[in-house]
Amino acid sequence: MMKIFSLSAIASRSVAFIAVCLLIFGCHSDHDFTRSEISLLAEADSIMRVLTIEDPSDLDVLRAASCDFSSEALLSDEFSRLAELMVATVTHPSQDGVGIACPQVGLNRRVVAVQRFDKEGEPFEVYPNIRIVWQSDSVEFGPEGCLSVPDRREDVARSQEIIIEYTTVPGLETVRETIFGFTAVIFQHEVDHLDGILYIDRVAESF
Ligand code: ZN
Repeated sequence: MMKIFSLSAIASRSVAFIAVCLLIFGCHSDHDFTRSEISLLAEADSIMRVLTIEDPSDLDVLRAASCDFSSEALLSDEFSRLAELMVATVTHPSQDGVGIACPQVGLNRRVVAVQRFDKEGEPFEVYPNIRIVWQSDSVEFGPEGCLSVPDRREDVARSQEIIIEYTTVPGLETVRETIFGFTAVIFQHEVDHLDGILYIDRVAESF
């Protein structure tokens, strides 16, 4: 009895230790695509399902912080497929968005696709391992909606100028870029998703 108790105590301590390790190192120990991420990409047809706050299990993904990609992961076929699917999903007539973040298609990975209204032809571009490293104090209010927050649209205050940092593919260089205006607003909205923040959280902050 005593032995059983002590074994189960050790087991429960081990589980707790592993859980703590995952919490602390979850984003650092495994930057490569997981088996479940690979199967999610393999299951996708031409577009991916967009997660919404209306589904509690979707909300778990939308509210979690996302992990960076390793260099190997960025150069993999899975990353190309993910980037292609994200752009196909956000540009599909059923969505018709101007940006999408990876958690919105079910993977907690630090990558966004943004329509560059500040470039000729207004192309969609994909930014892995992205962070906003500086943002202006000067803000402007503007209406925002979100593919993951159906049937809502509210005013949010956003910085007018930001500096983003991301990794280029296939060059794997870390580059910085200054972005202004509406395109900067889209970047702020999408990068928030990677930290589990939704625009509706910013509405209260804006007043
Ligand atoms: Zn959104």
